[in-house]
Amino acid sequence: MRPQEIIAKKRDGETLSQAEIKSFIKGVTSSAWADYQISALVMAIFLNGLSLDEQNFLTEAMLDSGERLDFPDIDALLADKHSTGGVGDKTSLIIAPLVTACGVFVPMISGRGLGHTGGTLDKLESITGYNVNLSIEEFKQIVKKCGFAMTGQTAEIVPADKKIYALRDATATVESIPLIVASIMSKKLAEGLDALVLDVKTGSGAFMQKFEKSKQLAEALCQTGNSFGIRTEAVISDMNQPLGKYVGNALEVFECVKILRNEADEKMSPALELSIELASRILVLCGVVQTIKNAKLKIKNVLESGEALEKLRQNIELQNGDSKICDNPEILTDENLIEVRVKSENSGFVSEIDASAIGESVSQIGGGRIKVGDKIDYAVGYGCARKLGDEVKSGETLGMIFCRNETQANLVYEKLANAYKISDEKPLENFELIKEII
Ligand code: URA
Repeated sequence: MRPQEIIAKKRDGETLSQAEIKSFIKGVTSSAWADYQISALVMAIFLNGLSLDEQNFLTEAMLDSGERLDFPDIDALLADKHSTGGVGDKTSLIIAPLVTACGVFVPMISGRGLGHTGGTLDKLESITGYNVNLSIEEFKQIVKKCGFAMTGQTAEIVPADKKIYALRDATATVESIPLIVASIMSKKLAEGLDALVLDVKTGSGAFMQKFEKSKQLAEALCQTGNSFGIRTEAVISDMNQPLGKYVGNALEVFECVKILRNEADEKMSPALELSIELASRILVLCGVVQTIKNAKLKIKNVLESGEALEKLRQNIELQNGDSKICDNPEILTDENLIEVRVKSENSGFVSEIDASAIGESVSQIGGGRIKVGDKIDYAVGYGCARKLGDEVKSGETLGMIFCRNETQANLVYEKLANAYKISDEKPLENFELIKEII
């Protein structure tokens, strides 16, 4: 069938067959479909949606556009966690060592940050020497040796996604649930997993801000994962404020190491709480333990015994990074930075935080990318002093900007100060971190 006939069918709200979807993806990878034809079809999908069958056919066709990993000589179950992205979301670096220390292996293929959201690869690259550009063979060897490895997307895995995603980005069609599902799940299926836990964020710093939309996405991701035989579960978690204490690459790695060293302070504890929740679900999905309660106990043990920290150290060494950060996380902080306090203008209680504005501010001072390809200053960032529900007096600190100079601080000061809504009354809501399990 010619591209224009497939596009016309979807434009008119008809259902595409598996053969038609396969022919679309073949056309993408062979360049038989022009960019305007791919864009027209993704817009038709954006407007008219896909049935579950079509969503699964698309996921499978995208998966088949590249290589699949297999780990024939590993005698452990393989699992991963995927987050839809947020501000201060650093759980990958905590979950991978925790889960591995409990006997489940984690082949993690991660992404980079863009706009207000951070990316695991950028955080890892703030560790001196850490290599996130592993070949598939190196990646597999590191998973085998230490139980987890973290690398970037390779050209061999789901090549169709790279092209389609770039066109979605340019045609305002990113926010389509079936397209998101096919994009995420084809890449996760290529990892050869037994189990997958999805962290679907909801709120002011999330990709899907409305709870109902986040829930629809979580359900759609789980349906496709389970249809392909991966035990899949989703946690809908709150992104109405940055997760944990810090936003910014090296600062977030510092927070993760402090957590794995059992030195987390109160502002860091949500990052630990969410990591434990997600890691526990992986252990239950993999049958390591039968209940979430037992999974949490097991995870607390490997955290308190230092086994999880040792896994992180082993991984950093195998990926050529400076593992001294495990003994002395302070070396991640840059002494040349200046610290500027963001002060509250009013007294009251923090009732709303615009998490996107905080993420964008960190990108503006160089800690993230405004556009693909921007260079990153790994050291800069923001530290949260007040979180939702906290009391604050006029003149007290809401947060700290860690930046290079006053000019940078001035650039983002207003935006950061305005990111907080201070109310006279203590908010009634208790700002739960875990909203729902799907
Ligand atoms: N992340 C992805 O990998 N793909 C999407 O479509 C959206 C978020």
